[in-house]
Amino acid sequence: MPLSRHFDYLPPKNHTAVPLPGTRVLVPFGRGNRVGIFLGLGTETDVPLDKLKAVVSVLDETTCFDSSMLDLLKWAARYYVHPIGEVLGQALPTALREPEQSLARWTRAWQLTASGKSAPLGATARAPVQTKLREHLREHQASDATSLSACGKSWRDALKKLSDKGWVEEIKLPALPPPCGPSSETALTLNDEQTIAVETVTEDFGRFSPFLLDGVTGSGKTEVYLQLVQRCLDAGQQVLVLVPEIGLTPQLMARFENRFDVPVVSLHSGLADGQRLQHWQWAKSGEARVVIGTRSAVFTPMPTLGLIIIDEEHDASLKQQDSFRYHGRDLALVRARAAKIPILLGTATPSLETLKNARDKKYTLLTLRYRAGDATPPTIELLDIRRSQLHEGLSQRLIDAMHEPLSKGQQVLIFLNRRGFAPVLMCESCGQPCDCHRCDAHMTWHRSDSLLHCHHCGSQRPLPRVCENCNEPSLTQVGQGTQRVEDELRSQFPKHRVLRVDRDNTQRKGALAESLEKAHSGEADILVGTQMLAKGHHFPKVTLVGVLDMDGGLYRVDFRAAEVMGQTLVQVAGRAGRAKDKGKVVIQTRLPDNPLLLTLVQGGYEAFADALLSDRQMSHWPPYCRLAIVRAESTAPGAGLRLLESVYATFSKEPELQCAPPGPAPMERRAGRYRAQLMITADTPNTLINQLARLRHYLENNTLKGVARWSIEVDPVDML
Ligand code: ADP
Ligand code: ZN
Repeated sequence: MPLSRHFDYLPPKNHTAVPLPGTRVLVPFGRGNRVGIFLGLGTETDVPLDKLKAVVSVLDETTCFDSSMLDLLKWAARYYVHPIGEVLGQALPTALREPEQSLARWTRAWQLTASGKSAPLGATARAPVQTKLREHLREHQASDATSLSACGKSWRDALKKLSDKGWVEEIKLPALPPPCGPSSETALTLNDEQTIAVETVTEDFGRFSPFLLDGVTGSGKTEVYLQLVQRCLDAGQQVLVLVPEIGLTPQLMARFENRFDVPVVSLHSGLADGQRLQHWQWAKSGEARVVIGTRSAVFTPMPTLGLIIIDEEHDASLKQQDSFRYHGRDLALVRARAAKIPILLGTATPSLETLKNARDKKYTLLTLRYRAGDATPPTIELLDIRRSQLHEGLSQRLIDAMHEPLSKGQQVLIFLNRRGFAPVLMCESCGQPCDCHRCDAHMTWHRSDSLLHCHHCGSQRPLPRVCENCNEPSLTQVGQGTQRVEDELRSQFPKHRVLRVDRDNTQRKGALAESLEKAHSGEADILVGTQMLAKGHHFPKVTLVGVLDMDGGLYRVDFRAAEVMGQTLVQVAGRAGRAKDKGKVVIQTRLPDNPLLLTLVQGGYEAFADALLSDRQMSHWPPYCRLAIVRAESTAPGAGLRLLESVYATFSKEPELQCAPPGPAPMERRAGRYRAQLMITADTPNTLINQLARLRHYLENNTLKGVARWSIEVDPVDML
């Protein structure tokens, strides 16, 4: 368990100048040396003086984090009750954990010496990699490691041999500037609502000012972003754009790159470490003018930052779900406040937190009510399937409804939030389902690889031929996943082309972009997929969206389940009829009288969110209080729960806190560990944070800490 403290060291020997806080240092740690971040000078320490070790060296001449970024990181460590070391580690590009990696603005490169140039090529005839390197260097002159590595696996050894011969030498090349193409797209003429949005935000340039851009899907939010970015660039400043998952919206990045004639870079986990460092350096030097990244990009140093934009601010992917569990949107707000700049949160389905802030006038509300261009909003209808016979999850009425648009050459999108073939494989003779051996969950049958997959821990096993419980060969598939629905659609519509899009067939790099391209170019008539299809894409030819099963969101224990269900439904519905043809959304349900569902369908997201907000207020849940979850898990049943019981015994006495008695997590066993949780709420963030700091200290010193792993999550978004 990482400790919630910093570590003290003596200054390095023979180093006179004190580095600035935020500089990388090499320090002895455990048995070796590790890269650390210098936080500041202290005058006292708990470590006995004879045990205190000295810093080995100061690694860079410049800082990784300036004082404002360090302040943000320290704030985050305190707010999320997380060790500052790990917070710094998450904010630092991975490549900089290597002491050899330099922050200097040059790269190592190699070139031929005079004797290397004159030596005959045949001299290394028996060493093919050396020969390749020499040929490469003759052709390209100075080359860096990336280009030389194309000469063969053992290029480093070969290069060393050449340099021993005196034929190549190392040089320093100045760092490349970021690439930047000419802009190919011009700005659109804004409609009135868009104009108001752009002008209102622009008026607040130069001061902290949060905005909620609440705009239905297709209303032209992205165009508002683009024009605000242009205003900011004109003012000589940088812009940070945070998006939930870059891989899911390849078009967004392209729209930004095509619009501006200044360098636009991306920052996300799909980049190689070296590439990511490079992009980070360009942002830090100010050369990259626009940074588009996922949540961790909120930590990117940007010296002339003038505006932050968060797209799809309601999306749970903006929250990190393990180790340092921060929310990218919330830290961006803290950053904007410190930097005195505006921040724009855009979405068609605001999170209840953001909505409440807008209602409380803490955020300025900007609304885009109408779809841009000629598009009209889709009609939504509920399809009661309680007495219907389903064809692999599809009701006959939905199938019938699909014929008309398909015959007109339009597209149909079928949405199902469950991948795989069949979510449960069950024994018909004893009723036992095939469960994961490590989780309290059913295994999903994936037909593509004929394996059972656990979607919670990732484990897989071959399809059993007989029931593991009664040995009868009577296993049958229950329920539908996207693969099974895909099959059914193919057999129902043999003349039409069906395209499935989910995590299983888009893992390969570029696969999602290819699928989306097929969907756009009309190479597919029926699209079937999970929420990957619901996010930010334009499918102008989709006029009918069928939603197979969303009822789960209405009776799950998780207090956010209904909110997420409503957001997903509205986002999926937003895919319909984005061009001239009016769209229709059909939702299959077994709960056609559910008041929340009816509110959503009849009153729209706003009325739905209002209903949820009053529920939350009455039951005293966020955003009407501050919530934290303390989790503990152990390989032995019960140890985690015992640890939390001792926490409860101590902290439930605090008058400022409300603690519910600890209990097992909704899915108690996951990946072989038994999990327990304790929920704590307080009225104000400060109360919660102060108490959690004490609680963390208590856990760090508890005797049970050896048998149970624990974690604290502030503002959790997922209760599983
Ligand atoms: P959102 O991000 O809100 O879903 P987009 O910005 O992607 O919406 O816009 C949806 C569509 O409308 C796009 O095809 C876009 O080019 C078009 N559009 C946006 N603003 C305008 C405008 N002012 N005039 C005409 N078309 C527009
Ligand atoms: Zn599992």
